[in-house]
Amino acid sequence: MLLSFEEFEAFQPTRETYALFGYPLGHTMSPALHHALFAAASRDADYIAVTVPPELLADALALARQKLAGINLTIPHKKAVIPLLDAVDQSAADLSSVNTVAFRDGKAIGFNTDILGFAESLERDGVSLRGKKVLLLGYGGAAAVMGYHCLCEGAHLFITGRNPEKAQALCNHLTRVLPSAKCTVCTRRQIPKDTAVVLNATPLGMFPREDKTPLYFLPRKTVYVFDAIYNPPVTALMKLANPRRTKTRDGLFMLVMQAARAQTIWYNAQFSDTACESILRRMYGQMAVKRLHDKYHKRHIVLCGFMGSGKTTVGRKVARLTGLPFIDLDRYIEEQTGMSIPDLFAQHSEPYFRDLETKYIAELTAQQEGCVLSLGGGAVLRPENVATIKQTGLLILLDTPFFRIIKNLSHSTNRPLLEKEDKLAETRRLYQARKPVYEQAADLRVRSPRLGEVVERTLKSI
Ligand code: NAP
Repeated sequence: MLLSFEEFEAFQPTRETYALFGYPLGHTMSPALHHALFAAASRDADYIAVTVPPELLADALALARQKLAGINLTIPHKKAVIPLLDAVDQSAADLSSVNTVAFRDGKAIGFNTDILGFAESLERDGVSLRGKKVLLLGYGGAAAVMGYHCLCEGAHLFITGRNPEKAQALCNHLTRVLPSAKCTVCTRRQIPKDTAVVLNATPLGMFPREDKTPLYFLPRKTVYVFDAIYNPPVTALMKLANPRRTKTRDGLFMLVMQAARAQTIWYNAQFSDTACESILRRMYGQMAVKRLHDKYHKRHIVLCGFMGSGKTTVGRKVARLTGLPFIDLDRYIEEQTGMSIPDLFAQHSEPYFRDLETKYIAELTAQQEGCVLSLGGGAVLRPENVATIKQTGLLILLDTPFFRIIKNLSHSTNRPLLEKEDKLAETRRLYQARKPVYEQAADLRVRSPRLGEVVERTLKSI
C-alpha cells in the first residue's frame, strides 16, 4: 500500500504496522519483502509505504511515534531524520545515515541496517577483507556504508569515481570516524593491480541502461565483485568476472538482509538461513516478472527444449517463485482432448497432434493473465508457433546437456517419438536435428546440468 502524506495522517492501523518513508516513492520492493519476512516469522503485522516530502519529515515522524511500531527511511530522509531522533546507534552516527527507526519506551532510536545487509552478503560468500585491497566505485550513500564496513574489517580501501573531490570527501569522512583506517583516493589508472575485491556503489549498469559499467576490465587478481545493483540481477560489471576465478554477487541479498535486520531490531525476529534463502529466491522471482514486463514487454515465460530437458519440473518451480500460474502444454492438451499423448499419436497422427499444439499455444498465449508455459519438445518446430509465442511470451531454451537428458528420459514411459528399436541413437539423432532450431527460436538460453541451478539461472537470465 502506497499512501500520500495526507492519507497517512488519516490512516488508522488495525494491527501492528511498519512503514517506509521516502520522497519520491515509485515502485518499491520493501512492502513485499517485509510481508514475506513477517510471514516467515509468523508475525501478524503490516507494512506500508508513505510519500513524505522533506519539509514534512518531522510531522511524519511525530505521527509515526503514535501510529507505527517502527519505520524505514530512504532518500532523501536518511540524514535529515537524525536530529529528530532521541538516540542513534554508533555505525549509523558514524555514517550520518539512518534507514531504520525503532520506538522503544517512548524513544525513537536510529540504526543503519544497510551495513548489516552488506556485511552478511560478504559473510555468505566467505569473503574475508582483512589486509585485502578493496576498490570502491562511487562515493554516495551506499559507498559510504560499504566502505565503512570494509575499513572496520581491516581492508585497505581505494575509492574512485568521476569526481575526485567527492571521493576525497568520503575518504576524509571515513578516516575521521575510523582514525586507524587505511583509505586512499585513486584515479582509474592508479587502481592497484593486486585489488582483491571490487565494489560497485554507482547506478552504472542499472535497468534500463544495463550496458553501462563503471569499469571496463577487472584488476587481474580480483577474487570477488559485489554490485549493489539488483535490477538486473547480473550486471555488466559482474559479467566481466571470469567465473573460475572471481565470485560475484548482486545487491538483492543485501536488500533482503537489511530488511530482515530491521525486523530483528523492531521485534527481535530471528530468521534461519533457509528462510532468508527462500525469501531471496522469491524476490528473484518477483524481479523476473518485473523485468518480463518492463524490459521485454511480455507477460508469459515460455520454456522450450528437448524432451527430458526438465521443462515441467523447472517450469513448476519458476511458477512458484514468480507467483505466476503454471501450465504444461502436453498436460493441457490431454485435459482438453480427454486423451493421453501416446493415444493421440496412436489413434490419430503426429500432424494431428501438432495442429492441436498450434491451436492451444495460440489460445494460452492470448490470455491476459501471465503464466509460465512449458512446451512439448516439438512445439517450436513450427515457425508459426514461435511467432505466436513471441507476441506475448519470452521464449527461454533449457539447453540441458545430452547426458542429463538421457538420464531424465530413462525414467519415462510416455514418449511416443522414442518408441523405436534403437532408442539412444534415435534420441541423439532427434536431439542433434532439433538443437539448432531451438537455439534459433529462443530469446534466451539457460544451460546447466543441475536442476536447482537451472531454476535460479532461468530467473536471473530474464
Ligand atoms: P547516491 O548516494 O546517489 O550515490 C551514487 C554514486 O554513483 C555517486 O558516487 C555518484 O557520483 C555515482 N554516479 C552516479 N551516476 C554516475 C555516472 N553516470 N557515472 C559515474 N558515477 C555516477 O546513490 P546510492 O544510494 O549510494 O546508490 C548507489 C547504487 O547502490 C544504486 O544503484 C542503488 O540502487 C544501489 N543500492 C543498493 C542497495 C541494496 O540494498 N542492494 C542499497 C542502497 C543502494 P556523482 O556524485 O559524481 O554523481
